[in-house]
Amino acid sequence: MINVDDKISCCGCQACYNICPKGAIEMVEDEKGFKYPKVDNEKCINCGLCEKACPMLNEAKRENNPRAFACMNKDEEIRKQSTSGGIFTLLATAIINDGGVVFGACFDEDFGVHHTYCEKIEDLGQYRSSKYLQSDIGLSYKNAKEFLDQGRKVLFTGTPCHIEALKSFLGKDYDNLYLQDIICHGVPSPLVWDKYRAYREEIASSKTSSMSFRSKKDTTWSSYNVDFEFKDGSEYKKYHKYDAYMRAFLKHLSLREACTECKFKRNNRFSDITLADFWGIKNVKPEMDDGKGTSLVIVNSKKGQELFDKINDLMVCEEVEFDKAIAGNPSFNTTSKANPNSDKFFSELKNGGDFESLANKYAPKSSTITKMKRKVKGIIKKVLKK
Ligand SMILES: Cc1cc2nc3c(=O)[nH]c(=O)nc-3n(C[C@H](O)[C@H](O)[C@H](O)COP(=O)(O)OP(=O)(O)OC[C@H]3O[C@@H](n4cnc5c(N)ncnc54)[C@H](O)[C@@H]3O)c2cc1C
Ligand code: SF4
Ligand code: SF4
Ligand code: SF4
Repeated sequence: MINVDDKISCCGCQACYNICPKGAIEMVEDEKGFKYPKVDNEKCINCGLCEKACPMLNEAKRENNPRAFACMNKDEEIRKQSTSGGIFTLLATAIINDGGVVFGACFDEDFGVHHTYCEKIEDLGQYRSSKYLQSDIGLSYKNAKEFLDQGRKVLFTGTPCHIEALKSFLGKDYDNLYLQDIICHGVPSPLVWDKYRAYREEIASSKTSSMSFRSKKDTTWSSYNVDFEFKDGSEYKKYHKYDAYMRAFLKHLSLREACTECKFKRNNRFSDITLADFWGIKNVKPEMDDGKGTSLVIVNSKKGQELFDKINDLMVCEEVEFDKAIAGNPSFNTTSKANPNSDKFFSELKNGGDFESLANKYAPKSSTITKMKRKVKGIIKKVLKK
């Protein structure tokens, strides 16, 4: 049976929870707010299925010949609502038009993040835009298998570990399954997100009515804002580099431990298509950068190419040399290094520390860092003169 001795060895994908035939596995939150499996020994029959399904325990290999593209959805409104170039919606629409089902991450009514599925184009909006915390998979792999066994097309979207978890949960290939992952920086803790949202709501004296981690409303794609709208009509809008939650995320303070030694970031992926922001597009193909969002689309398989060809007329798209395409996006195949202050951040936050002060302490704004660097340079110069 599955036994998580060391937290770094569990990415929280929930494949074990989905596969257990006896319902002996429960996903339990730790003190940082990340879920880990807990086995009920009374119910467990030692069948070993959970270990077989765990993507962290089983080394899976694939040889791809990936192609990279810079893409923009021609529908300007959808692109505005999306993180990058709005390509997820095009892929999902193609699947639904074929009678298929789409799985993705959405907010629930309390702004927690869960995986669910939908079968209607008008319901795709809930999955648009990145939610920067770990999505709770629930029983989505089991649900996806039911649709696949009925012969329905399924597009399953998520992080690279979700995709490998679904593959090992299924244990065989399905012609009707399409897999789309993302370039993944890592996932912050749902508890940190809850604390941050509570902090914002306390300052606003009002509950959240809508939220975007990647708002392009009043700015460009690369200078995106974190944007909260509250029930009393007030708003919090902040350039992401000045927002406390985003700084904690981007400086790896709030990440799951397994994300700091991620084995799923690699050229040869199990997904059919990988989506990302095309960071660096202005250097590679400036004509594809209009400030409204450009997607990097990596096509990993023949099936991915067939799906991609179906949406060709609905986007502006140019192929880019693979190495140039990933050059601006280190998270494609480089893991996010552990922040040595992460444990202190979590424990001080848990003990009631003020979110903004903790982010200022452990993930200072770049302007503060620049000032500090200048100070250090000044001191070094003085020392060298003596
Ligand atoms: C946690 C996280 C880290 C990321 N890190 C990077 C990075 O380092 N570099 C980079 O270029 N891109 C990163 N991305 C991907 C990027 O932000 C966009 O999701 C991607 O470019 C797709 O954009 P789009 O405009 O085509 O579609 P959108 O409509 O914005 O795409 C939404 C898609 O993202 C999925 N999604 C949203 N939130 C989650 C979540 N919490 N977990 C799993 N899936 C989710 C939805 O299911 C849907 O498939 C990250 C995304 C997430 C969620
Ligand atoms: S060994 Fe079998 S019964 Fe026991 S927890 Fe794992 S999957 Fe469930
Ligand atoms: S299957 Fe996923 S959740 Fe279960 S132990 Fe392995 S990595 Fe953790
Ligand atoms: S960084 Fe790796 S382990 Fe963490 S969520 Fe992304 S794919 Fe999964």
